[in-house]
Amino acid sequence: MFCKKCGKEIGDNETYCTYCGAPQNDVPPQQAPPAYSANAPVDGSSFGWAFLGFLIPLVGLILFLVWKDTLPLRSKSCGKGALVGVILYVIFIIISVAIGACAAASAYDYYAAVLL
Ligand SMILES: [Zn+2]
Repeated sequence: MFCKKCGKEIGDNETYCTYCGAPQNDVPPQQAPPAYSANAPVDGSSFGWAFLGFLIPLVGLILFLVWKDTLPLRSKSCGKGALVGVILYVIFIIISVAIGACAAASAYDYYAAVLL
């Protein structure tokens, strides 16, 4: 066979090129597995974090951004909770405005003045 790097002919069973030293198999050299750290925080979906994000969407959003690289599952829980919290909050506002608008013309004028 021929070297994958320099193209010179080498033995069929050569793992490394005898001319340039380039590895001839596609399997990358064995790497040591990352050392397990007992102090590493455990990642995982958590209803508690989602609930916190739901209660305080701003905190949920911040935690989502802080953890999205290191603790992706936990940050997802926070983000989901925050998202649901924000959506419900917006729905609540819309319903409040709708009720206020239907209740009386003066209320409608008030919300229109505030929101428009
Ligand atoms: Zn070579």
